[in-house]
Amino acid sequence: MSESIEFKFREELLSRYEKCSKYLIPKDAYFQMIGDIRRASKRKNTKSRHEYHLLSKYKVLQCGDVEKIIKKRQTLDETPVYYVSIQDTFHIVKRAHVATGHGGRDRMTKELQVKYDHIQLDTIELFKSLCLECQEKRKRLMTKGIVVKPILSTEFSSRGQVDLIYMQSMSCRTFKWIMVYQDHLTKFCVLRPLTSKLAAEVAFQLADIYLLLGAPVILQSDNGSEFTAQIIAELRSLWPELSIVHGKPRHPQSQGSVEGANGDIKDMLVAWMADNNSTDWATGIKFVQFSKNLAYHAGIKRSPYAAMFDVNARVGLTSTSLPQEIISCLQSEQDLITMLQQQETDANEPETEAGAGVNEPERELPKAEMNESEQEPEPLSQHQTNLDQLHNSISSLRLAASESQRQQAERMVKRSRTELVAGEIGDNIALPIPLVDRGRGDPRNTLNVIVSWSMNDQYRVATKSGILKGSYSRNQFDICPERLLKESDINNDIEISLREAVI
Ligand SMILES: [Zn+2]
Repeated sequence: MSESIEFKFREELLSRYEKCSKYLIPKDAYFQMIGDIRRASKRKNTKSRHEYHLLSKYKVLQCGDVEKIIKKRQTLDETPVYYVSIQDTFHIVKRAHVATGHGGRDRMTKELQVKYDHIQLDTIELFKSLCLECQEKRKRLMTKGIVVKPILSTEFSSRGQVDLIYMQSMSCRTFKWIMVYQDHLTKFCVLRPLTSKLAAEVAFQLADIYLLLGAPVILQSDNGSEFTAQIIAELRSLWPELSIVHGKPRHPQSQGSVEGANGDIKDMLVAWMADNNSTDWATGIKFVQFSKNLAYHAGIKRSPYAAMFDVNARVGLTSTSLPQEIISCLQSEQDLITMLQQQETDANEPETEAGAGVNEPERELPKAEMNESEQEPEPLSQHQTNLDQLHNSISSLRLAASESQRQQAERMVKRSRTELVAGEIGDNIALPIPLVDRGRGDPRNTLNVIVSWSMNDQYRVATKSGILKGSYSRNQFDICPERLLKESDINNDIEISLREAVI
């Protein structure tokens, strides 16, 4: 995307601002607003209506020497949501657009909402209208439109789909095909470059994926069930334990031209190559894969990544609440710690206090209306229920896991209490010699006699040459069946270290 697009975008937003679009703010007004908020929060009494309004909606976040306006938070733990100037909007919207793989309005809104406020749908649409790749994609979308009856999965990972996209004249290194693997329930997808469409090569890649994510019960492909059967046979020779059945193709009408079903992948890839000025699609598909998995999916009401892992993916510091200017100058962990310590809002008043009781609908926050038109036309309410069940089961599995760890710890304490019979004065014990104190040919243990013990599990022990310094707990030694050393054999007069006792 060239600079002229940025220029057009900015000029259009500025002209919309002139026509009094209340969510847009140019940079000079932005800085003026920071000043206003700071002054208003310092003034103790007689705040004006405008000042009350500002304080009820906004805060200034100071981060190093960067000042940003953020939406007022209920508590300081909430992630800051930034208000941005017209001049900063282009790069922020562009980043969201590229991160969602040239995503549509809804995907971009979802992406932007996490960190930014006040970015309007018409701003997003303006950006899309200026994106060349998106305009090309739009033309092609008109000719598509196969409505597909969904095949519902009832169990996690129960169904996987593998398709091949032929890259025709665009071979990259030795790669000619893209393998598209998708888990049917979570929509999580994996893309791999292939040199051939041989079942053995596909099976090798699938085995790699299955050994990472687990394997489904049913494998299906738009490339036909014969193809799927061959892959399954190859998989079995690679991994004899694995049994999978082949299923019906999802789009029987698209057999032989999978491009129809996986068209968006090719579109996203073409856009990636244009954005990065690269023909290396074998690398590009990794980014497309990530974008696809992170993008909000209306059919499952979450991203495939979240459906698969129950957490959101992180992209290093970009996923943190720090402003972009700061992120780009951080180098070491120490830089990060320093910056986080410096990050604070001005004024010490709690964020909930200011402007309470004053209701001013002057700048109502927009509610983005989600439009599901750009998603696959699948009515997936059952699907969603399955996912919710999956999530509940992940949560309860985690609970169960931590509960069983606690029980295990309890059992160990119990066992040490019952199995480790308390020692008595006069008992002989074998006390292990630490490796560092053990010379070549030295025994593993020293033989000691218990000379005293206390209720809190602390034993004092002695050897022939003296009483050992410090005390030992019962789990540090074993009691010997015979009293080979008598109390009369030991030297009660001096304290020695274990090391001295070994010598
Ligand atoms: Zn685009």
